[in-house]
Amino acid sequence: MSRDYVALNRTGDKMPLVGFGCWKVDNKDAEQIIYDAIKVGYRLFDGACDYGNEKEIGRGIARAIKDGLVKRQDLFIVTKLWNTFHGKEHVREAFEKQRQELGLDYIDLFLIHFPVPLKFVPFDKAYPPGWYQPGGNKLEYERSPIHQTWPEMEKLVDDGLVRNIGISNFNVQSIIELLSYCKYKPATLQVENHPYLPQKRLVEWVQAQEIHITAYSSFGPGSYIELTEQGKTAKPLLEHENVESIAKKHGKTTGQVLLRWAIERDIAVIPKSVHVERMRSNLDIFSWSLTDEDRKTISKLDLGLRFNDPDSYGFDLPLFS
Ligand code: NAD
Repeated sequence: MSRDYVALNRTGDKMPLVGFGCWKVDNKDAEQIIYDAIKVGYRLFDGACDYGNEKEIGRGIARAIKDGLVKRQDLFIVTKLWNTFHGKEHVREAFEKQRQELGLDYIDLFLIHFPVPLKFVPFDKAYPPGWYQPGGNKLEYERSPIHQTWPEMEKLVDDGLVRNIGISNFNVQSIIELLSYCKYKPATLQVENHPYLPQKRLVEWVQAQEIHITAYSSFGPGSYIELTEQGKTAKPLLEHENVESIAKKHGKTTGQVLLRWAIERDIAVIPKSVHVERMRSNLDIFSWSLTDEDRKTISKLDLGLRFNDPDSYGFDLPLFS
């Protein structure tokens, strides 16, 4: 595959197949890391209100534009609506806060982060708010159905503030529901996807609806070691012998094998690394291919093993059950 982008439904916008994930990029380093990533060649940045680093990401983008590394239109900026802002009266103000923090005129892709409407938290009480009310220790839901949230997302498109809208962590049932009333169907679905959780049928079905899939956590347990029991106990995919043998055969790194496996399924990836060498190698996955045998070897790793499950963080929410 030599194509390094996918064309999104409705707009035809070219979304890069490899982007840069901004979760857990430290505030103090974020401006420089984003600048470095742009310099290395990343054009898509995947952020979220919940990551708490949009101001610094915005500064990195602004500096790169000012220094002439890129133009705004060369970049593809993704961010996400947090759970506490699903109320139809809150979508726009939450979006505007994010857009201002990022310092941008428009966002390329705005996603609903989770299909989980939580009770509103005002900006001056806590920002980003997280899963609980300030000082709380259990989830408090809000009666904000997606059929009210989505039209507000669509209005952001109509007003020229967002080019594309999409969803994250939705399952087939909730997508069918959304497709039954939306004016603009989601451009993308962002979900956890790696060889321990390939979600073959979900991917096929969603792609058949002309909704592009973006995989998060392509390296599996790596980012969940301190967060969940599964993250701690699962064998790191980057060190798995099945992946290592393929990497050795092609003279590639295990990271490149895992990312290549995704893009060959037309799934976009958003690996996160703060090291320039790894950033470079994660981006360099277009000049070679896996064989059928490699794919068979990787398919043996399917354990249905999910790491980003609110339930395993102790939130009493078996979202994917
Ligand atoms: P990831 O799979 O990109 O793995 C990151 C970890 O792998 C880091 O510890 C990093 O140091 C290490 N790493 C990166 N490149 C490497 C390489 N070449 N060799 C060895 N180690 C390497 O993990 P992630 O951060 O979970 O996911 C990527 C992005 O997906 C996030 O930054 C975020 O933008 C997005 N995301 C979205 C959701 C969601 O709910 N929508 C959830 C999780 C992540």
